[in-house]
Amino acid sequence: MIDWSAIDKVFLDLDGTLLDLHFDNHFWLEYVPLKYAQKHDLSHEDSKQKLDQKYLAAMGSLNWYCTDYWSKQLGLDIPALKKEVQQKIAVRPQVEEFLEFLHMQGKRVVLVTNAHPASVEIKMNKTGLHVHFDRIITAHELGYAKEQAEFWPKLQTVENFDPQRTLFIDDNFDVLDSARTYGIKHLLAIRKPDSQGDDKQHHAYELLDSFSQIM
Ligand SMILES: [Mg+2]
Repeated sequence: MIDWSAIDKVFLDLDGTLLDLHFDNHFWLEYVPLKYAQKHDLSHEDSKQKLDQKYLAAMGSLNWYCTDYWSKQLGLDIPALKKEVQQKIAVRPQVEEFLEFLHMQGKRVVLVTNAHPASVEIKMNKTGLHVHFDRIITAHELGYAKEQAEFWPKLQTVENFDPQRTLFIDDNFDVLDSARTYGIKHLLAIRKPDSQGDDKQHHAYELLDSFSQIM
């Protein structure tokens, strides 16, 4: 699946790739609707409907991943709410072993995430995963989401990389499409980003069932 001699750098997504996407799905689709209904005195149905419209309008943009944006939009303290349910934050199977393997192979390991720095901090405090990265880069530092074509040249200015010798793993197909258009040669997707969700299907990308497949 991967010829490690052809790769110098490994860019890794966080949510749905290294961490179980169940936390985020639970948070945005269940916990936030509950809190939004309480705050604005809405029925659960009305709350969900209003949120769906707001989510749809922000999807794919940097706002979608911005806790400040959502705190203002919804009148809720999003980082504080995340902390209330942080027991659900979980590392996906074999992630620590995989990160150690990459270092043993002498690869530079960079977390490249759309998650807001406030979310990254909560997740790293909970999981301790930060010790495994040579560098952590959030899309908010660069001003574009990974789905956007502008993101990749901007990333190149802060973390020089050879697209032909870089492996990028992400669970979001729009993000992978954007990376492929930029020229990143080695791309892998995730079969089951949410441990309680459905398997994904895609014809353009190989889907990882488990990190042991590439160790
Ligand atoms: Mg992801």
